[in-house]
This record gives sequence, structure tokens and C-alpha cells, in this order.
Amino acid sequence: MRDTTKQKNSGTVYLIHFRKRYKHAGHYLGFTENLDKRITDHLCGMGARLMEVVTEANIDWKVSRTWRGDRNLERRLKRWHNAALLCPMCAGEEALNRGNFAQKVQRFVKHTR
Ligand SMILES: [Zn+2]
Repeated sequence: MRDTTKQKNSGTVYLIHFRKRYKHAGHYLGFTENLDKRITDHLCGMGARLMEVVTEANIDWKVSRTWRGDRNLERRLKRWHNAALLCPMCAGEEALNRGNFAQKVQRFVKHTR
């Protein structure tokens, strides 16, 4: 028996908050099917060019938020072009009301931009 509904949400979209901006970048938004491994890669400065330069610049960073979802969700979230609004470390709890595309149960939450 195959559960096809599962494959749609087989990964994690994650938001990384940089303690200090790197040029204009304050965040990195990515997708992975294995968050632990991906984070380990980033800690070594691997996996994404931005994370590589941020690590080289000795900027501390933290995963500030994760979503269960796929690459479509990653694209939708990237279209915001303002990750700070989605980041609880920047925008506080308000951020958690934003970008909940994958969670239809929360459709009553106002989508303020
Ligand atoms: Zn942030």
C-alpha cells in the first residue's frame, strides 16, 4: 500500500536567520528532505553558496522556523522576498501567522503582508 498523500509533504522548508546581515542577506530559505543532514552541511559551509559565504564570514545563524512541505512551498515563501516578516526572531509571534500556505486548517488566520 502506498500513501501518495505523504509524498507531497515529504520535506522540510526551513528559514535560517543570520545574527548579522551578510551584505543584503539576513536570511536563507531552503528546502530539504533531511533537515538534520542539511543543517550539518550548512555548518560546514556546504550545500548553498550563501551559507558558504556566511560561514566563511563567521556569522552566527540559527534555524528560526520550519514548515513541512515541498519545493512548491519553498517557491511560494521565496516569492515574499521579505523573509524577515516570516521570521519569529525578527517579527516575533506575528511571523507565525504568515506564510501558512501548507496548513489549510489555519485558513482563518489573517494573511497580513
Ligand atoms: Zn530573522
